[in-house]
Amino acid sequence: MASAAPRRLESYVYGAWTAGKGDGLPLLDAGTGETVALIDSKGLDFAEVLHYGRSVAGPKLRAMSFHERAAMLKALGLALMGKKEEFYAESFRTGATRADGWVDIEGGIGTMLTFASKGRRELPNTRILTDGNMEPLSKDNSFSAQHIYAPLQGVAVHINAFNFPIWGMLEKISPTLLAGVPAVVKPASQTAYLTELMVRRIIETGLLPEGALQLISGSVGDLLDHVTGQDVVTFTGSAWTGRKLKAHPAVIANSARFTMEADSLNASILGPDATPGTPEFDLFVKEVMREMTVKAGQKCTAIRRVIAPRDHVDALVKALGDMLGKTALGLPDDETTRMGPLASLHQRTEVRERIQDLLSDAEIVAGNPDNVRVASGDAERGAFLNPILLYADDPFGAFKVHDVEAFGPVSTVLPYDSIEEAVELARLGKGSLVSSVFTDDPKVAEEVVLGVAPFHGRVLVGNRRSAKTSTGHGSPLAGLVHGGPGRAGGGEEMGGMRGVKHYMQRTAVQGTPRLLSAVTGRWIEGADVQHGEHPFRKSLAELKIGDQLMTAKRQVTLDDVEHFAHFTGDTFYAHMDEAAAKANPFFDDRVAHGYLIASFAAGLFVEPNPGPVLANYGVDNMRFLTPVYFGDTVQVRLTCKEINPRENANHGEVHWDCQVTNQKGEIVAQYDVLTMVAKIWPPAQAAAE
Ligand code: NDP
Repeated sequence: MASAAPRRLESYVYGAWTAGKGDGLPLLDAGTGETVALIDSKGLDFAEVLHYGRSVAGPKLRAMSFHERAAMLKALGLALMGKKEEFYAESFRTGATRADGWVDIEGGIGTMLTFASKGRRELPNTRILTDGNMEPLSKDNSFSAQHIYAPLQGVAVHINAFNFPIWGMLEKISPTLLAGVPAVVKPASQTAYLTELMVRRIIETGLLPEGALQLISGSVGDLLDHVTGQDVVTFTGSAWTGRKLKAHPAVIANSARFTMEADSLNASILGPDATPGTPEFDLFVKEVMREMTVKAGQKCTAIRRVIAPRDHVDALVKALGDMLGKTALGLPDDETTRMGPLASLHQRTEVRERIQDLLSDAEIVAGNPDNVRVASGDAERGAFLNPILLYADDPFGAFKVHDVEAFGPVSTVLPYDSIEEAVELARLGKGSLVSSVFTDDPKVAEEVVLGVAPFHGRVLVGNRRSAKTSTGHGSPLAGLVHGGPGRAGGGEEMGGMRGVKHYMQRTAVQGTPRLLSAVTGRWIEGADVQHGEHPFRKSLAELKIGDQLMTAKRQVTLDDVEHFAHFTGDTFYAHMDEAAAKANPFFDDRVAHGYLIASFAAGLFVEPNPGPVLANYGVDNMRFLTPVYFGDTVQVRLTCKEINPRENANHGEVHWDCQVTNQKGEIVAQYDVLTMVAKIWPPAQAAAE
């Protein structure tokens, strides 16, 4: 029976699925060598792709608040998770086993869901962000400054590598869309059929504004000629291509932001305390083995250099060699397979050539690149390669080992004679994405982390205590920065909400507080205030930024302090012992407890009856600034500072600027009170509406 004709991949550009006008380059199944799809982007108008994203989707995304965008990402992530089996089926063709596919598919969708949830929890429900506190620039508060972040008005062009066709896209578009910026994704050709499938499913949901995500299947043509200073280009792949694109004339001329994540010779260090027989030794062996075999070692974070005490090298090589030798190599959809093929025959040739380079400084101690042993599949038609372990006896003379990345199941063991040497060897990678050390000795952990941190974007310390919960050396996480200095490309991605700011411009805005507050939607000192009904009686429908309450005054007495001390058990000497308090450099006498002042403040500002304020969920940035002595009188000024209505809920969060002063007008305490407030009050009225 004739097999079905391979499908032609399409690009999703300027609002339509569009086929290239060329013949199409065949993309082969990594395990069987069959043609999966044809790819080409000939005839696309790349300038129009950028223009369409900027003009059609940009304004729509920027009109949404962070919480609306976060809700959009959540709905999208959940919809994609519901279709995961379809992605797994296609993912096998890239050479990924089910376990490898989990990292790419569920890891990618999970990253999107994490950005959605962090965006909802950590960002305000606004369209711009404030950065830091207001900077007072005048004594009378008539001129101040506030740093803000506003979304860039261009598009983000994401050029991805072949090894993570789904995660690579989702980890980049999640912070991009959350920031309010449209994305154009260009997956590596070799595995673009999986990315194309996911983009089809994303577009079908109808959850993204039109133009917020475009896909280029095939070459990007002259697209980079048209980038402007409002666009961002991110790149994951080889250092050679990355450097070429970073030096593109339009990128340089327009100072377009360029983030690069390139090859990396990540190292893992076995601590001197982690001798054979210790849990750390066993964990190290498992970790190196996992990093060499997951995705057949085609991970930008994989361990390429294994740094171990010289005395334990023999035991380590034996343990690793035994485990690697038992790794069943075979077809990705065969359940007994532990490691699948490389992404393509071309990649296998590349990896074999890089092993030859490494052999000028190292010897093979496990595996044979020319003798492929498979448990299933065809050793020649599929891009199979068993794991290869090398050893370099003179690690400081092994220049290739610190320079050449064999992007496959290949690592080199390097011996060290002192912990300083181990650190120095890790640094010879000239900057990597991640490094790890396996030790249970705090001194080793400190010395290694301080020594290698400036050369890495992430450092993992592994030991027996975290063995069960550790996410591992090779897993970038949505909440942590991913990227590394120097050879690793000098870029940074993700890192939670840090990553969102990569698609925004930070601007220092100077002016009078009333106008700064209008710009940011957040009250600052010196901005307008309104007095009237107690603000705790107002629902979100009525409450306004700047609504303010000046409370009654209350005198603080010796009896108050004695009562509070014995009631709570806080009998710290500064509150109880006059002589000891006077001897303290900060106090002239016994002082009231800071928490007593905060409690009195609450007693002064609350509105006790049932009302729209539903709960107080904490305070932020509490500072006690001036001591309160017996006989002093305190008063509270409470101002509505920030209002964040929650999406899909009947309430929102309100931050109140709370300032407590004494009878001389000195600020004794300053903090933000955080409350949940109903959108509409009373509830019966909310139900009716
Ligand atoms: P490349 O650097 O060749 O490709 C990476 C991405 O850049 C692909 O999407 C590719 O598209 C695109 N690209 C290539 N040339 C251009 C260009 N002139 N303009 C615009 N985009 C371009 O890397 P490969 O994927 O081929 O992998 C080669 C090596 O890179 C690997 O063997 C490995 O050493 C390293 N690598 C490192 C990774 C990391 O995360 N650190 C990840 C993957 C690879 P197309 O596929 O269509 O050519």
